[in-house]
Amino acid sequence: MQFGYSETCLDHDTGPRHPETPDRLRAIRRALAKRHGVDYVESDPVAQARIEAVHDAEYVAEIKAFCENGGGNWDPDTVASAATWDATLASAGLSEWAAHEAVRGADGRDTPFALGRPPGHHAVEDDAMGFCFVNNAAVAAQAVLDDGDAERVAVFDWDVHHGNGTQDIFYDRGDVFYASFHEDGLYPGTGKVSETGEGEGEGTTLNVPLAAGAGDGDYLYALDETLAPALDRFDPDLLLVSAGFDAHRHDPISRMRVSTEGYALLTDRVRDVAADAGAGLAFILEGGYGLDTLSEGVAIVHETFDGRTPIDPDEGPNEKTELLVDDVRDALDL
Ligand code: ZN
Repeated sequence: MQFGYSETCLDHDTGPRHPETPDRLRAIRRALAKRHGVDYVESDPVAQARIEAVHDAEYVAEIKAFCENGGGNWDPDTVASAATWDATLASAGLSEWAAHEAVRGADGRDTPFALGRPPGHHAVEDDAMGFCFVNNAAVAAQAVLDDGDAERVAVFDWDVHHGNGTQDIFYDRGDVFYASFHEDGLYPGTGKVSETGEGEGEGTTLNVPLAAGAGDGDYLYALDETLAPALDRFDPDLLLVSAGFDAHRHDPISRMRVSTEGYALLTDRVRDVAADAGAGLAFILEGGYGLDTLSEGVAIVHETFDGRTPIDPDEGPNEKTELLVDDVRDALDL
């Protein structure tokens, strides 16, 4: 894969005892150093106008000034330092780069993956939250739409938390499809089956709030039965994966049971879904807080594009997942 990476993203300092640390990127780099076929690209920081295309300009000015004044606790979870604004611009720039690469035909071993931090999927139009300041996936999606490189963009968010920010930003939009698989009941509490979009965006939001304990068989079943038919219908030009690795069975902050192999299987399926739609495919890092599971997760996504064949799980979905998937299919008329 081509990995978008910038040292500037290491400078976002969340202090001791915060799970979203620069060590996350260092661990990923160490894991990728053992693999072949890894290319790094450092893209330009994002232009502020790109951010203001999806965020309120007043909020952007406020958070920028907050960082420039030394930062601090924006809320109990969301911590900024003086260098956070530059890291945010770098992180969003990497996402924009990945989206543009993908719509311009980078695929196979050249598939782009933006390794930025801070992450983005909780950032809403006018607020930072959940470790996120600027919504990287939303900036990237809007950038390719504004440049005329895509008419429709889909975001598939497999982070264990619901990407409330991405959902909100595009909730009434017919040109961006947002799909999330997340653990029911976790932060931030949004992402119910009934949240399917509104106005022109009716039917372009898909939420699968899986019960705690869901594993590879549940995720794959949900993907095959909900995401695949939904995107077949939506027909995106670009599929962005908001790739968090915190649904891993050994991640410290969730109760999901996805294995490292499960991320290879999800990657393989997502690649098929994108190919069937004729869509470009790009990955954007979100969460993942076990350094080993995070770095092995990113590495196995890379290996999947490098030619490794994932091994199918023995287990299918559990009954709760089957019932949930029926509800999701009804909600979206799939
Ligand atoms: Zn997360």
